[in-house]
Amino acid sequence: MLKGKTALVTGSTSGIGLAIARAFAKEGANLMINGFGDKDAIEKERAGLEKEFAIKVRYSPADMSKPAEIVAMIEETEKAFGSLDVLVNNAGIQHVANIEDFPPEKWDAIIAINLSSSFHTVRAAMPGMKKRKWGRIINIASAHGLVASGQKVAYVAAKHGIVGLTKTVAIEAANDGVTCNAICPGWVLTPLVQKQIDDRAKASGKPVREEEIKLLSEKQPMHEFSKPENIGALAVFLASDAAASMTGSAYSIDGGWVAQ
Ligand code: NAD
Repeated sequence: MLKGKTALVTGSTSGIGLAIARAFAKEGANLMINGFGDKDAIEKERAGLEKEFAIKVRYSPADMSKPAEIVAMIEETEKAFGSLDVLVNNAGIQHVANIEDFPPEKWDAIIAINLSSSFHTVRAAMPGMKKRKWGRIINIASAHGLVASGQKVAYVAAKHGIVGLTKTVAIEAANDGVTCNAICPGWVLTPLVQKQIDDRAKASGKPVREEEIKLLSEKQPMHEFSKPENIGALAVFLASDAAASMTGSAYSIDGGWVAQ
């Protein structure tokens, strides 16, 4: 479906970003992957994707808190592949504390990585997309882009911000063949979340499934996690021709979290 197109997924060395990158690879898109991690493991992943899906894959170590590195990554993508067609803003971090205990440097880092990085990627990628009259921008927000939880002031502010950015970009590009949407996942079972559950089960001596249900039911009516692959499939759909008129919206994939 996306043969000949190029997708860039920020924060795609693990979790949801990696699953999204794999989903686009499966559709034949060339890839620019990005994120932190062990150098050899990233190279193994990069080469593995190239081989498995017969596509071209490059890796950018650009730090999403550094505007100059972000712009250089977009320029490198366009130069190496000839275009940047699908931009997925996924990189994100978290810190949990009451506002009076929230370190200002954590606030700055979360706003920079979870929100401002998308301003910089879109700003740099938009001229090429408008020129080619085709583009898909997909922002990975969160249920926390639509509703709040305590102890997550920076994350909730950044994710609400990304939903606003999504709407403005969609309006500006509405007649240029470029769409911009947000995906709002609830709990997604990534290695990090799995570790939290395993730790809770170890501490309480209760079965893992019991701890899973406890964690999920604090927020989600549905006692099941979304899988990273589910988010990848939704991103692929938003990049498809079938979604050409879907723009400026935030799509929940959250087991009913924000229905309450
Ligand atoms: P993760 O920690 O597994 O992956 C985060 C990725 O971002 C990694 O590749 C990491 O290297 C990269 N990254 C972090 N800081 C970076 C920086 N400064 N520059 C470049 N890359 C950087 O997390 P995840 O759970 O896969 O989360 C991915 C996105 O999905 C985030 O935006 C997160 O807020 C969102 N999300 C996750 C969940 C969930 O339950 N896991 C739910 C809703 C939304």
